[in-house]
Amino acid sequence: MKLTFLGTGTSTGVPSIACDCETCISEDPRDKRLRVSILIEHAGQSVLVDTSSDFRQQALRYGLKRLDAVLITHCHADHIFGLDDIRPLNFRYGALGLYANERAWVDIYRIFKYIFEPSHFGGGLPQVIPHVVEPGAPFCLAEDLIVTPLVVIHGRLPVMAYRFNNFAYATDLSEIPEQTLELMRGLDVLVLDCLRIKEHPTHLWLDKALEYIEKIKPRRAYLTHIAHDIKHERDSARLPPDVQWAYDGLIVEG
Ligand SMILES: [Zn+2]
Ligand SMILES: [Zn+2]
Ligand SMILES: [Zn+2]
Repeated sequence: MKLTFLGTGTSTGVPSIACDCETCISEDPRDKRLRVSILIEHAGQSVLVDTSSDFRQQALRYGLKRLDAVLITHCHADHIFGLDDIRPLNFRYGALGLYANERAWVDIYRIFKYIFEPSHFGGGLPQVIPHVVEPGAPFCLAEDLIVTPLVVIHGRLPVMAYRFNNFAYATDLSEIPEQTLELMRGLDVLVLDCLRIKEHPTHLWLDKALEYIEKIKPRRAYLTHIAHDIKHERDSARLPPDVQWAYDGLIVEG
């Protein structure tokens, strides 16, 4: 299993426009964060989680050559607004499976109405094959790639996290329900939301994220959806061994 962090930043990205804080002016490439997204490569499959608002730039930067499926966590702008940019992959390979829960599908049909009810001819449209995922109901993308959708709570909104064999990706959440904690047992790698040090109503903050990591006990954990409050090198000292701040371009294999 190979996991590539395509983006690790909060919804504004880091640096944040018009900010000259220590992180936003940092020259450390690990302090430059596009909007969150990961690529999972395993068993001959390339699976993208979220078409972030930076998807085009991410696909070009990391040399993305093909995709077999796209999984959506939820429909906040930072996670979905890059959907239109899957078109060059459609032109080459045809329609792409798009997986999201029922709630997210309501928003996808609304936000991207032009895809599903085209009103003019000419100009390419994204081509997607809709799949509805159910929390706790695993599906196979290949014989050796089992995906389990997991429900986590993002403020008040239930959103999807995904387990890929023994890797799990859980961004944009403030709470992990008990039944999801059960489904997160025995992980080699856990990627978890951690916006900043200070509390936040819809995201995990450092103490809360570390509390969940203690409970879930993955072999390694990576924190993502990071705001400019966090400076990679300075704030790495706050983390226990086997937990680290993710950064754009980081590859985790296992
Ligand atoms: Zn987000
Ligand atoms: Zn800043
Ligand atoms: Zn969100």
